[in-house]
Amino acid sequence: MLVRDILNESALDFALAGMDSPRLDAEILLSFCLGCERLDFFKNPAMPINEETLVSFQKLKARRLAWEPVAYITSQKEFWSFTLEVNNSVLIPRPDTEVLVEEALKVCRQLDSAEIKILDIGTGSGAIALALAYEIPLARLTATDVSAAALATACKNAESLDLASQVEFLQGSLFEPVDDFFDIIVANPPYIADEEYDKLPVGVKDYEPPEALRAGVEGLDFYRKIIAAAPGHLKNNGWLLLEIGATQGRRIGDIFEASGQYRDISIRNDYAGLPRVIKARRESSG
Ligand code: SAM
Ligand code: GLN
Repeated sequence: MLVRDILNESALDFALAGMDSPRLDAEILLSFCLGCERLDFFKNPAMPINEETLVSFQKLKARRLAWEPVAYITSQKEFWSFTLEVNNSVLIPRPDTEVLVEEALKVCRQLDSAEIKILDIGTGSGAIALALAYEIPLARLTATDVSAAALATACKNAESLDLASQVEFLQGSLFEPVDDFFDIIVANPPYIADEEYDKLPVGVKDYEPPEALRAGVEGLDFYRKIIAAAPGHLKNNGWLLLEIGATQGRRIGDIFEASGQYRDISIRNDYAGLPRVIKARRESSG
C-alpha cells in the first residue's frame, strides 16, 4: 500500500467514527510508525509502506478508533515551544493553557528582578512550570502534584528539556509540601463539576486521570482552597493566576472578592473568546 491510500482510508474511518481531526490524526499516527515528519507525506505521497509498518499502524489505528487520545498513543504532546512526554497519569496539556503561561510572563515582566520565584500547583506533565522556566532563565520554579506518577513524568520532561536545575518537584496536596513565599503562584486545577464530568467526551473520561479533572459538585473545590490559602505563600503584592472553566469566571471572581485578600482582579479570554485565566494580586500587609 502507498502512504496516500493508508491516509485516505484511515481519515475516512476516523471521520465516520465522528472524530474532530481525522486526517491530522491519521498523519500523526502514520508518521509516528514510520519515524518521519508529516511533511514527508506531502513530499512523497506515493511512498510504499511495508507489511510490518502496516501491521503496527493498524494496531494504533484500532486504539484511536476506541477513542484513545492520539497524544497517549504516541506518548507525546506539543506545548508552548516544545514536545512533552505524556502518559495516562497526566492530563494532556491543552493549547488553552498557553494563555495562562502568557499572562504569567506578562506579570513577570512587571517585576523588578528576573530572579522570580514561581509555584505551579498540580503540575501534571510539567507544562506550565517548564514553559515558564524555559522563558525566564533566572526564575526558580517549584512544581507540585498529589500524584507521584505525574511528578515523575514532569521530572523526566524537565530533564529532557534541560530545565531540571531550575525546577524543584514536590509531592503533596495543594500547599502542604510547600514551605516558602513566591512572587507568582499559578495553577490549572481540576475544574470539572460532577454533572459535567459524566458528559465529557469518551476520549477524556475514559483515558485521562479523573483526579486531574474532577472538582466537586460545582467544579469550584480547588479554587476555594487555593484562593483561601495562597496569600500565606505569596510575597507582598505577589500574583495568583488560575486557569478557569469557560463558565466559571464570575463565580471565581466572587470567591476572590469575598476573601478580601486580593486586589486588581481581572479575567483574560482565550483565543476562542472564552474566559480562561483569572489573576489577582495579594493585598499588601502594611
Ligand atoms: N498543570 C497541568 C496542565 O496544565 O496541563 C495539569 C493540570 S490538571 C487539570 C490538574 C493537576 O492537579 C493534575 O496533575 C492532578 O494530579 C493535580 N492535582 C489534583 N488534586 C491535587 C491536589 N490536591 N494537590 C495538588 N495537585 C493536585
Ligand atoms: N480543559 C480540560 C477539559 O475540558 C479541563 C482541565 C481542568 O479541569 N483543569 O477537559
